[in-house]
Amino acid sequence: VVALPYHAAAERDLVVVAFARRGGTLGIVRMPRLAPEADSAADSSSVRGHNVALVLEDVRTHEPTSRAAVAARTGLARASLTTIVPELIAAGLLRDSSAALGSRGGRPVSPIEFDGSGFGVIAVEVTVSDIAVESVDLAGRTLRADSRAHGRPLADPESIVAVATRLIRRHLDFLANTSVHFELAVIVMPAPLIGSPPIVMASSDLGWRTVDLVGLIVAEVPELEGRALLVNDANVAVIAESRALAADLGAPATDLVYLKSLTGIGGAVISGGRLIGGANGVGFEPGHVLVRPGGRSCVCGRNGCFFAEAGPEAVLETAGLGELAASAGVAVAVSELVNRAHAGDPKALQALRNVGEILQAVIVDLRLMFDPQCVVLGGYWADVFDDFRIRDDLGLADSHTLKVAWSEIDAGRISPFVVPGRLGARAARAGAIRFAIDMLLAEPLSFGR
Ligand SMILES: [Zn+2]
Repeated sequence: VVALPYHAAAERDLVVVAFARRGGTLGIVRMPRLAPEADSAADSSSVRGHNVALVLEDVRTHEPTSRAAVAARTGLARASLTTIVPELIAAGLLRDSSAALGSRGGRPVSPIEFDGSGFGVIAVEVTVSDIAVESVDLAGRTLRADSRAHGRPLADPESIVAVATRLIRRHLDFLANTSVHFELAVIVMPAPLIGSPPIVMASSDLGWRTVDLVGLIVAEVPELEGRALLVNDANVAVIAESRALAADLGAPATDLVYLKSLTGIGGAVISGGRLIGGANGVGFEPGHVLVRPGGRSCVCGRNGCFFAEAGPEAVLETAGLGELAASAGVAVAVSELVNRAHAGDPKALQALRNVGEILQAVIVDLRLMFDPQCVVLGGYWADVFDDFRIRDDLGLADSHTLKVAWSEIDAGRISPFVVPGRLGARAARAGAIRFAIDMLLAEPLSFGR
């Protein structure tokens, strides 16, 4: 770990850079110095906020735990903890735990754990067919969940907003009736977002051009003013999948490519522990990259896009499910495709193998571009992963230069290299909830206000 002065003139902040042993940056954190100028009220309050967040994060990670263990891990003085812990208990973010942690020098240890049951986050997930709304507390426990079909009213955000606001109101009432303080709503869209605060750039699934979705919802539910975030589904899904993968591996998943298909094709990349956003937040939209020059025409106006060649509509047509998709919707037809593949239906399996071939080529390209530890396939692709028969050596011949080179530099890679997502269709919502909670808990002194 190397610490460098971040701002030479003020010398108030530090940048901590962690390097992996084989080179490459693991993470960069800008943090206030822990010993502030005595006469600077602003500094001292930001350091305090930082220390409070540090304690909270440590207890969340290690609960149930003792005050002494928190002090040892965070490097904070026991005296600081004797003020911070009671304050967090009074705020409803920590509580005394009934777990037994043994004794210390003959005195019983009184453990603490994370609480957060008095504060609520509402996650709103818009898909091509439904709106799902889930209320959770800050420990991520589900308090209530509802889902409604919105009937896919093409090019008509208002009627989708109407369904969403009805459900959100019901959840706000529910939280109020159960004495849970509403903190934040996080709205998940399967579409590229642009700008700050973000708006929907376009949705080919819903026939939208730019739509200020949060603005439309806040106009109907003013309680959400300043308390609503809009996130892209794949961007939060990759966060959830990277944590699930890291928990399984017992090692950080800092470099991942996530590709998913449900009613379209989406994806996200984590590189060096950071989500790739690009200059405008639309840095990785794999659905419209070219996979076959002069191929099928695509909704975006080009030909031979990944979506046009291997998206759900193309696959359903090959599998003989085009009519079902037209009458019952793509989502219903995709789940029928999965059922048929599992039952061994030859047309369904052939359609999936066609996708598998294209996926394999796309994955080789992505490996060349991002050098990920592994590629995670989500959405329905996770359910039919075995049917793709994607080879871990990516189908390259033994003499292939790339294969030879990769086999020599496999140090950072996770085996197998291509894996199905752990969280299935819930990945986006789970990631959005986690993202919202982490954001709130990063500033624990502003709670309940
Ligand atoms: Zn396209």
